Amino acid sequence: MTSIPHILLIYTGGTIGMTKDYKTGALKAFDFNKLLKHIPELNLLNCMIDSVSFEEPIDSSNMNTQHWVSIVEIIEDNYEKFDGFVVLHGSDTMSYTASALSFMFENLTKPVIFTGSQLPIGDLRTDAKENLITSIQVASEIKNGKSVVQEVCLYFEYKLYRANRTTKMNAEHFEAFSSPNFPPLGESGVHLKFHNSLIFKTKRFKKIKIRKKLEDNIVILKLFPGITRNAVKSILEIKGLKGVVLETYGSGNAPTDSWFIDLLKSALKKGIKIVDVTQCAGGSVILGHYETSVELQKIGLISGKDITTESALAKMMYLLGEKIKMKDFKQLFETPLRGEMIE
Ligand code: ASP
Repeated sequence: MTSIPHILLIYTGGTIGMTKDYKTGALKAFDFNKLLKHIPELNLLNCMIDSVSFEEPIDSSNMNTQHWVSIVEIIEDNYEKFDGFVVLHGSDTMSYTASALSFMFENLTKPVIFTGSQLPIGDLRTDAKENLITSIQVASEIKNGKSVVQEVCLYFEYKLYRANRTTKMNAEHFEAFSSPNFPPLGESGVHLKFHNSLIFKTKRFKKIKIRKKLEDNIVILKLFPGITRNAVKSILEIKGLKGVVLETYGSGNAPTDSWFIDLLKSALKKGIKIVDVTQCAGGSVILGHYETSVELQKIGLISGKDITTESALAKMMYLLGEKIKMKDFKQLFETPLRGEMIE
């Protein structure tokens, strides 16, 4: 590690680097080099910053698993050269990408901080500068020769979160993200404070492992009162389907109708993995707590416990990509791998 931290800024797109098309009034991505011109303050930070940009920066609504792999490969290629990584990303799907990266890197010992903004960097009232500058500071924070943060995080509006615990909860407030089931890992006020006891610790002797095989034949199925047999059947019978994130009610409850349970049973029989996550913003699935989840537990649904939908989707893609043995899959899914759920 050099005496001054060396940070790699990875620009993928999003509002932070957007500009207004005055003809249409729509926001569109612009050249990353212009983004840096807007923040001369970066020169005042006690670190060296290099940057790399997606050839074509994108609105994060266009993100897909190939883009996730591209971000991972940029970090992989530069892992030894840099002390920390800041990923600039649109806020719309940031929790999905950041959750996915948390699983794609095992035994991470350097910070990967996702950030973005609600207003473009050139806007007078922009939130981009604070988010970017503090993210770089977080990524540069070193104590006793080690990075203070050694996991994938999301920094937004004065709070540092574990990425795989976050969800975008507001489309216009500067405070766009929340982490309903896990407290922030740090806060920025007059001082930049870290809650060290909450930060994920990797055993230093373990070598980093990078996983790039993600299974994308999966769906999120959100229940609603009145959902028809036809709708559930069509989804569960999608050709090649490998996994389902089933968004249920409350603590993991679902209709007890026999048609519903039978459809789930036959999907499970075909080897499709189904994880039960709650539609509620906070709290945990407790299978068997109500009569309306007893049958789900009996037929072998995976409990998503207090995981977010974003993180459940990422974990499903990752574990299915790893070709875990049938008998180990459920137990592994129910085990916290990167701090994404309770024990
Ligand atoms: N639509 C933008 C995106 O996610 C919003 C943002 O950057 O905050 O790319």
